Amino acid sequence: MHEMALMGDILNLVFDDAKQKKITKVKSITLTVGQLSNALPDALEMAFDINKAQGHDMLSDSSKLNIIVEEAKATCIFCEELYKPTHRIAICPKCNMPGGKLTSGETFKVETYEGE
Ligand SMILES: [Zn+2]
Repeated sequence: MHEMALMGDILNLVFDDAKQKKITKVKSITLTVGQLSNALPDALEMAFDINKAQGHDMLSDSSKLNIIVEEAKATCIFCEELYKPTHRIAICPKCNMPGGKLTSGETFKVETYEGE
């Protein structure tokens, strides 16, 4: 489960930033996760809960993880059809040509976090 490593990176990033702002507890973290980003929201939530259970001093029992799922979208470079690809290699449902240009769905980032 590579989400465990991803979550470790996210928490380090947030905690470093929080420390600079003299925040002692992180109450919530909001992530944007694209449908094609290779990270599963359920696994990220589980990884977050595991980190919480391990008792990091920047997290409390009520700390929350919010995930905004970004829908995958692609544009066909041949017929300009706009569609929802299910894989990174996007195949146009209208003309069946591969090579669709992904315009959304690959994002993986910390949107915001709240602390006190
Ligand atoms: Zn097409």
